[in-house]
Amino acid sequence: MDKLEKKFKETIKRIGLNKEKKIVVALSGGKDSTVVAYLLHKLGHKIEGLHIDLKIGKYSEECLKKVVELCKLLDMRLHLYDMKKEMGSGMCYLRTAIQTEHYKQKKSQIKNCAICGVIKKWILNKAVRGLKADYIATGHNLDDEAQTILMNVFKGSLELSASSGIVTKNISNKKFIPRIKPLFYIAEEDIKKYSKKNKLPVHYEGCPCAIDSYRIQIRNFLEKVPTKQKENIIKNSKKLLKRVEKKSEGVKYCENCGEPSRGKICKKCQLVGICA
Ligand code: AMP
Ligand code: ZN
Repeated sequence: MDKLEKKFKETIKRIGLNKEKKIVVALSGGKDSTVVAYLLHKLGHKIEGLHIDLKIGKYSEECLKKVVELCKLLDMRLHLYDMKKEMGSGMCYLRTAIQTEHYKQKKSQIKNCAICGVIKKWILNKAVRGLKADYIATGHNLDDEAQTILMNVFKGSLELSASSGIVTKNISNKKFIPRIKPLFYIAEEDIKKYSKKNKLPVHYEGCPCAIDSYRIQIRNFLEKVPTKQKENIIKNSKKLLKRVEKKSEGVKYCENCGEPSRGKICKKCQLVGICA
């Protein structure tokens, strides 16, 4: 068995997934989520796909094409969330409106990826709940996780990484669908090679709006760091976080949209509300 497949299988086993559970894979059209769907399918799991059409011009069109191709290949049901139809505008318009208002009111800037990330997470949870799924599977990989930990260390908030893992922990909220990351221990480079070797339908180009983000700076820094050391970042943060782990965050809902939230108003409503 391929080394990547072996690691994937071990992670799935650790998560405790059984084949009765319904898993919705969040498909971006990129290599990571494509490999997640391909391997869950290969291992015989019940999966459906969900794609958020962000309406970022040609980039989104290409992503959608690859997602449709993959779903045909795996004979997998695809659910589409069209941002323009569901939220009234695509990501570019919404993001610019938020950034302009935020700057007017607070005289500070929010980066593109920070806004897009919050909105995508909100959509995923809400949309997947409607599909009555047991889990959302995403394509987050070892590199993504090491980046997030370092970002949290630099921001002085490592505790934000406490709920991160192969299954999102510590959120006891009936409206929250557990997220699983079957590629958590697999390096980005290996995923890329695997997707090419298996000729999977993947849009390899990155999002054109992902410029100047904090994550990109950290990613550049981590680029030359060997896989073993990226694994160490995760292992060491786990050791440290054991001391700050909270049992449960309790059931909290956003007072505006009713979705699960850490505070009174969820991050998405704080961002979108700024334009109201
Ligand atoms: P990103 O935050 O763009 O690095 O993406 C992380 C994970 O979120 C991906 O591996 C996908 O599982 C999911 N994801 C990202 N973009 C989309 C999208 N447009 N539609 C559905 N899922 C997505
Ligand atoms: Zn809200």
